[in-house]
Amino acid sequence: FTVLALESSADDTCAAVVTSTGQILSNIVVKQHHIHEDFGGIHPYKAVQAHQLNMPGAVQRALRDANIAAAQVDGIAFTRGPGMTGCLGVGCSAAKTLAAALNKPLVGVHHMQAHALTPTLTSAPNPPTFPFLTLLVSGGHTLLVLASSASQFRVLATTVDESIGRVFDKVSRMLALPWSAKGPGASLEEFVAASPAREDVAPLMPRAMPGVLGFSFAGLHSAVERFVTAQGGAASLDVSTKHGLASAFQRTAVGQLEEKVVLALRWCRDQGLGVRHLVVSGGVASNSYLRDRLGHSVINATRQDPVSLVFPPPELCTDNAVMIGWASMHRFLAGNTDEYSILIRPKWSLDDDIDIPQTES
Ligand code: ATP
Ligand code: FE
Repeated sequence: FTVLALESSADDTCAAVVTSTGQILSNIVVKQHHIHEDFGGIHPYKAVQAHQLNMPGAVQRALRDANIAAAQVDGIAFTRGPGMTGCLGVGCSAAKTLAAALNKPLVGVHHMQAHALTPTLTSAPNPPTFPFLTLLVSGGHTLLVLASSASQFRVLATTVDESIGRVFDKVSRMLALPWSAKGPGASLEEFVAASPAREDVAPLMPRAMPGVLGFSFAGLHSAVERFVTAQGGAASLDVSTKHGLASAFQRTAVGQLEEKVVLALRWCRDQGLGVRHLVVSGGVASNSYLRDRLGHSVINATRQDPVSLVFPPPELCTDNAVMIGWASMHRFLAGNTDEYSILIRPKWSLDDDIDIPQTES
């Protein structure tokens, strides 16, 4: 079964062709960071405009790279939510129109379900087995989720304020770090990795909600902001101070993930759930420091009863349409598809019944 999938929930316009045997026939990602940098974040109208501009070309390239005609595709998938309303609308309308014109079945996918299921594609032939624990760290979310099947999720922890990805972006901009084509979060990682950091800035960083299964990044964000403001702004900071600050920020943010992951693994063990894998996905999971740290923590915490850590390759951690096509597959194969009248769901919890087709219009 071959799926053409579209993704447009935030600032990347994506199209891909994926098969039910896990072949990635094409994967087009059109980034638009450069459009938003002047606004200090994703500008909603500029993002919609960029999707409108780029979606037709992305679909055309995805089909061309896959060497397949639209009529040969078996189904059309798209990101139904959660995400930015106008942005989701572009991918939804394009997918519905394609499906209707080609008379193909249609599936609207939950974006975070797609991030969570990515390793079931990328870790073949030994994919993580259900139930698994998943840490989803991205631009809009910081979640610890128990995945019981491809469509059943239970949110164990979320953030009480900001998402980790957004705070990486904001701190990177606040420190006016060098530009990276991969975006401001990745530029912070690159800046920290580029040279050894001063350790003495670290005590400024607060530890969030110790012992609680929940995330908070606002305190850490404010601590960096206060420090930068007290020094007279980023322009007054020398490179070595910026290094110290960026490195302490990254260490503390990732440290919080380590602590909460260990708490959640302990909870799963105490509940006797038989969790054998921890899946880490979402844009921030492309961070190598995070991969390294979590690797150590999970090995240390699960010596008696080993849990394997699974990451998708970095390019499939950030937004892409491959994951949308893959997450739609079980519904296409079960014939559980959506009507062409389906609407987007900008706010949509992973705790909901995410595979049930829309009934009301
Ligand atoms: P969501 O998936 O919650 O809807 P999104 O789709 O906008 O949000 P993703 O594309 O999954 O988010 O991830 C983008 C986020 O990942 C950005 O906030 C970005 O800064 C962050 N990110 C990407 N690479 C890195 C990195 N190497 N280190 C830290 N953060 C990173
Ligand atoms: Fe995402």
